[in-house]
Amino acid sequence: MTSEPEFQQAYDEIVSSVEDSKIFEKFPQYKKVLPIVSVPERIIQFRVTWENDNGEQEVAQGYRVQFNSAKGPYKGGLRFHPSVNLSILKFLGFEQIFKNALTGLDMGGGKGGLCVDLKSKSDNEIRRICYAFMRELSRHIGKDTDVPAGDIGVGGREIGYLFGAYRSYKNSWEGVLTGKGLNWGGSLIRPEATGFGLVYYTQAMIDYATNGKESFEGKRVTISGSGNVAQYAALKVIELGGIVVSLSDSKGCIISETGITSEQIHDIASAKIRFKSLEEIVDEYSTFSESKMKYVAGARPWTHVSNVDIALPCATQNEVSGDEAKALVASGVKFVAEGANMGSTPEAISVFETARSTATNAKDAVWFGPPKAANLGGVAVSGLEMAQNSQKVTWTAERVDQELKKIMINCFNDCIQAAQEYSTEKNTNTLPSLVKGANIASFVMVADA
Ligand code: GLU
Repeated sequence: MTSEPEFQQAYDEIVSSVEDSKIFEKFPQYKKVLPIVSVPERIIQFRVTWENDNGEQEVAQGYRVQFNSAKGPYKGGLRFHPSVNLSILKFLGFEQIFKNALTGLDMGGGKGGLCVDLKSKSDNEIRRICYAFMRELSRHIGKDTDVPAGDIGVGGREIGYLFGAYRSYKNSWEGVLTGKGLNWGGSLIRPEATGFGLVYYTQAMIDYATNGKESFEGKRVTISGSGNVAQYAALKVIELGGIVVSLSDSKGCIISETGITSEQIHDIASAKIRFKSLEEIVDEYSTFSESKMKYVAGARPWTHVSNVDIALPCATQNEVSGDEAKALVASGVKFVAEGANMGSTPEAISVFETARSTATNAKDAVWFGPPKAANLGGVAVSGLEMAQNSQKVTWTAERVDQELKKIMINCFNDCIQAAQEYSTEKNTNTLPSLVKGANIASFVMVADA
C-alpha cells in the first residue's frame, strides 16, 4: 500500500482516463507529461507555534504544496483541519492543477494547510494561529507567484487574519489571498461561488440529459455537508425550485421530506461560525422546532433519503461508498455532482459510471459530474477576484455571477467535447463520460501549457 493513498487515488484516476484515450495517438509528445506533472515543483513544510489562552506554547505542522505553475501562479486553498497531512495536500494540489485549467483562466495548482483542530479554539487563538502560519508562508507567496484561498476550516474570518498578517509582515497590500472581505479587495459572489457553480454545472447536466426539457424545478436533492459549499448549493437549489431533503456534518445528518428552508439554512450558517453541530442547531433554533426534521446520529444521508433525483456530496473526500452509491441509484438518483473534492470513492464512481454506460438513453442514465469540473466555481471566482485586484476595480454581483455561469457551462461543454473526441470507452449507447471528459480536457490543457 502506498504511503500517500489519497494522492495515489487522484493520480490513478487521471492516468487511467488519459492512457485509455486517443490523446497519445494525436500527441505522442504528451506521454512525458504524466511523470513530470506528478511531482510537485516545490513543497514547503514548516513549524507553526502560537500561545494559547492559558499562556502555553502550542505547535502544529504547516504546509504549502506548490504543485504546478505551467498555466499561471500556484492557486488553491488552505485547509486547517486535524486530517491534514502531505498525502491529502498533494492529492488536493494535484487535483487543483487540472481543476484550475478547466476554468479557462490563467492559474497553476497548489494547496496548503495546517494540521490543527480549530473547533476547540477561541477567536483570539485562531487569530494567533493565522498570524503564526502567515509568518512563515508570507516568504513563499505573492500575487504573481502563489495565491492561496480558503478551504475546509479557513473561511472569511481566517482569510481576514491571514491577510492582515501578510500586510504587516510584508508592508504591502496586494491581492495575495482570495476570498477576502468585500471592503478590502474581495469579490462579490466569492463566498457563494462553489455552491452556486455546482448547481449551474448540474443544471448543464440536466439540460444535456433531457434536451432542455427539465430543470431543478420540483427535483428532490440530497446534499451532504453544511459548510459554505453545502449552504450556497442548497440556497441556489431552493431558488431554482428544488427541494433540499438533507444536510450533514461529521456527527450526523438531518433529513426533511418536505424540504429544508432557506431560513433554516441561514440559521445553520450563523451557528456554524460558532462551531455548533447540526444536532445542537436543530435543538436550539426556533426555525427547526415546528418542522418535521429527522436527525440521524453517526450517519451520512445517502441511505436515509428516498425518491431523490439529484445528489450533491459537499462535505469531504471519500464520503460516498460503493454501497451508498448503489442505494442512491436504487432511490432514483439521475444526477450526482461533487461539491467536495473526491467526495465519491472509486467504487462509488464506478457504480454511477456503469449506470450511465449501460443505460438505454440519456434520460435514464445516471450522470456523474466529477469534482475537478463540478466544483471549480470557487476557484474560478478566485481567478476573477485576482483580475479585479490587479485592475483595482470591483465588478457587480450580476457580472460575477454571469461570468461564473459562463465558466461552468463552458467547462461542461469542454468535458463533453473531450469525451466525444478522445475517449475510447466502448459503450453501446455512446453517452459521454464526464469523468473521462474532465480528465482528458484538463490534461490536454496542462500538457499543452
Ligand atoms: N478551496 C477551493 C477549491 O478546492 C478554492 C480554492 C481557491 O479559491 O483558490 O477549489
